[in-house]
Amino acid sequence: MDLNYTPEQEAFRQEVRQFLKDKLPADIQERVQKRLRPTKDMVQRWQQILHAQGWGGSTWPKEFGGPGWSEVEQLIFEEECALAGAPRQLDFGLRMVAPVIMKFGNQEQKDRHLPGILSGDVWWSQGYSEPGAGSDLASLRTTAERDGDHYIVNGQKTWTTLGQHGDWIFCLVRTNKEVKSQEGISFLLIDMKSPGIDVKPIIMLDGEHEINDVFFDNVKVPVENRIGEEDKGWTYAKFLLGHERTGLANVGQWKAMMRRMKEIARQEQDDGKPIIENPRFRDRLAQLDAELRALELTVLRVLTNASGPGPEASILKIRGTEIGQRMFELAMEATGQDAITHIPEALEPDYTGPLVGSVNAVPGAGDYFNMRKLSIFGGSNEIQRNIISKLVLGL
Ligand SMILES: Cc1cc2nc3c(=O)[nH]c(=O)nc-3n(C[C@H](O)[C@H](O)[C@H](O)COP(=O)(O)OP(=O)(O)OC[C@H]3O[C@@H](n4cnc5c(N)ncnc54)[C@H](O)[C@@H]3O)c2cc1C
Repeated sequence: MDLNYTPEQEAFRQEVRQFLKDKLPADIQERVQKRLRPTKDMVQRWQQILHAQGWGGSTWPKEFGGPGWSEVEQLIFEEECALAGAPRQLDFGLRMVAPVIMKFGNQEQKDRHLPGILSGDVWWSQGYSEPGAGSDLASLRTTAERDGDHYIVNGQKTWTTLGQHGDWIFCLVRTNKEVKSQEGISFLLIDMKSPGIDVKPIIMLDGEHEINDVFFDNVKVPVENRIGEEDKGWTYAKFLLGHERTGLANVGQWKAMMRRMKEIARQEQDDGKPIIENPRFRDRLAQLDAELRALELTVLRVLTNASGPGPEASILKIRGTEIGQRMFELAMEATGQDAITHIPEALEPDYTGPLVGSVNAVPGAGDYFNMRKLSIFGGSNEIQRNIISKLVLGL
């Protein structure tokens, strides 16, 4: 197997690089490179620019308006976007609910929802987890009771990432309590402006409002918003999780971060010496760099496998998230006391004040804390190990 990029793939990389140079707005790039969260407007503006180029849905097939890129081209595109400082596209619409709608939705649902996802006009959230239903997702208790041509939804979803911006949320709900827990679940698309929905912030360790509780109090949802068959939602949910995990290796983001880490490590510290001159630090950085390269090759190997990712998705999720977390640990060491400088207001979308200290240009304690989430969401790494032991090792 040849793991080098072909001349065509290298030419494609140059095309993407040039596009980013020409079209990535400077204000968005600056915010991303300073490791501040891009605002909702920035994420949507960037999505519109990509959409105008025909690149809005980099993983989408042509028949639904995507560019029809190969897996390797998608990887190159993501890597170049990360290296250039483009904001991450919103996975919940593009990579989670869209593939489910494409595969299991009816024509009306495709026509209604896919264009808004591609253009970035509609912000989607993921309503899977509940208090008491995370790893053991099938024990979820949010109910949807049939009332004529509507469902009446009651319950609570939690950890809903960026749900404060959400226009729509895709939810797993219990439609049958009489059968085995996996068999009584349905997959509903819910307009977040519906009466009875209340979104409440959860503030994370880094002080950011990134996640939310979402409460449903007698929310009326038309039956036509159900994907596929009633009580068959578990099948669609599992299909979606497979898509989520493959994206979690995050090679492009980590390569951009590694490049930044090397710059930081070469800067002079308070003692006048760059930390790269410390052999222990240098060894760990080199080790991580080699492991990142190995992850990149593994991702390429998995993606070019004709049968597509199976349980390998779990391996990529574990490896990618572990490398990411170690990267931020090292970054905190490299930045020394600057890592704890923190300007909470700078996390607000409308912050335009001075960016004092180096925290705004380098990853610091906030990032370190934030990245603890990597081994929890998308199915915790312990759960991924269970999957590997069962499906790969046959234990
Ligand atoms: C920052 C963040 C954002 C998130 N965003 C979203 C979102 O947008 N939408 C959404 O629906 N969900 C979201 N999640 C939820 C996420 O998917 C869950 O947190 C995750 O599935 C774990 O569930 P839990 O938190 O209930 O932990 P639990 O399931 O209670 O697990 C607690 C601990 O026990 C371990 N454990 C549990 N069961 C087993 C087992 N069988 N074998 C071995 N170890 C086990 C887990 O690995 C974990 O370490 C988000 C989570 C975080 C942290």
